[in-house]
Amino acid sequence: MSLENTDFALAVEDLTVSFDGFKAVDGLNFYLEKDELHVVIGPNGAGKTTVLDLICGKTKSTEGSIKFKNKELTKLAEHEIVHAGVGRKFQTPSIYENLSVYENLEVSYPQGRGVFGSLMFKRTDEVDKRIREVANEIFLGDSLDMEAALLSHGQKQWLEIGMLLIQNPELLMLDEPVAGMSVKEREQTADLLNRICKGRSVLVIEHDMEFVARIAHKVTVLHQGKILAEGDMQTVQNDPKVIEVYLGH
Ligand code: ADP
Ligand code: MG
Repeated sequence: MSLENTDFALAVEDLTVSFDGFKAVDGLNFYLEKDELHVVIGPNGAGKTTVLDLICGKTKSTEGSIKFKNKELTKLAEHEIVHAGVGRKFQTPSIYENLSVYENLEVSYPQGRGVFGSLMFKRTDEVDKRIREVANEIFLGDSLDMEAALLSHGQKQWLEIGMLLIQNPELLMLDEPVAGMSVKEREQTADLLNRICKGRSVLVIEHDMEFVARIAHKVTVLHQGKILAEGDMQTVQNDPKVIEVYLGH
């Protein structure tokens, strides 16, 4: 584990995880700056989701280091990583279907005490203001009273992004956020991500190359747990290795 400080918001070094001898992530080095929107692409099974699992502490690394604002994350528990300012959205939205949009955002507000505690909790003007602000940001400002179960698939994805945003994470990680979305919803999500990467770092896994082109400051192509190529969209798209293992298919 390296002890030197870094200027990067996130510095992943020599990261490896081995599942019964199979290295799903193999000696990965990866850096992310503040205000950067970085997209990871690559074929199925490349190790993309595993990288997010390692950063958020869901999976423990076999080797290597993950420093977030110079704090080593590999030894922390999942809740401590959340507390350090890392928010992660999984592929399938995990919202409370039987609560309203407003209530979903309310229970996610950092001072809330879990679902039951925070619903009893007196709504302060500050919390109310922040909920409305986030709801507007995620295009749900007019749907605050709607039961979450009634939202479209795309709106559920946005609500979950809102539930992370309300915690103001300094690193936001999203796994395939536009899967199953309509063309219009994809465009709106691109606008949303372009807005919310200001003041924080955003790490996105995505397959939709049109969407990637709209948002990515930098692209990393992962293949068999290793980096195949990295750079701006143009560079990566024209890389013969990337065309061979990924884009050509
Ligand atoms: P991607 O998101 O790029 O499609 P994943 O990170 O989900 O790929 O998976 C990478 C590889 O690691 C796959 O072969 C997968 O089966 C394997 N893998 C992921 N998580 C585990 C786990 N907890 N235990 C065993 N194998 C795993
Ligand atoms: Mg995946």
